[in-house]
Amino acid sequence: MEEKMKILCITCPKGCSLEVTRDGQTVVEVKGGCKRGHEYAQREMTDPRRMVATTVKVKNGVHPLLPVYTSEPFPKARIPALMATLREINIDAPIEMGSIIAENILDSGVNIIASRNMNAGV
Ligand code: SF4
Repeated sequence: MEEKMKILCITCPKGCSLEVTRDGQTVVEVKGGCKRGHEYAQREMTDPRRMVATTVKVKNGVHPLLPVYTSEPFPKARIPALMATLREINIDAPIEMGSIIAENILDSGVNIIASRNMNAGV
């Protein structure tokens, strides 16, 4: 049975409202927005994902926490498991901005990347 719903596209800062007609997980039609928005609507109905930015613990650093982010959008349903896994990480300083903190985390194909440099404490 077809159902209509409105979703907000978060692909770019414009934040268009999209009207999605779907039949189960199949997207029948998307009204509003652009091509990227239509791709977002399709993904949102079948495999919703989000970028995740958080922190992990640092040993011997000038600060106790290192900001990190996912290299690409992560499956939304698995974000609680991701956060639990990241809470267990305790990485040694120094760390370079852009370095991979965890590769293919939870077999997702997504890496965890350092958002900044972290010097070792003195
Ligand atoms: S539909 Fe297109 S223009 Fe609108 S928010 Fe999404 S990506 Fe941006």
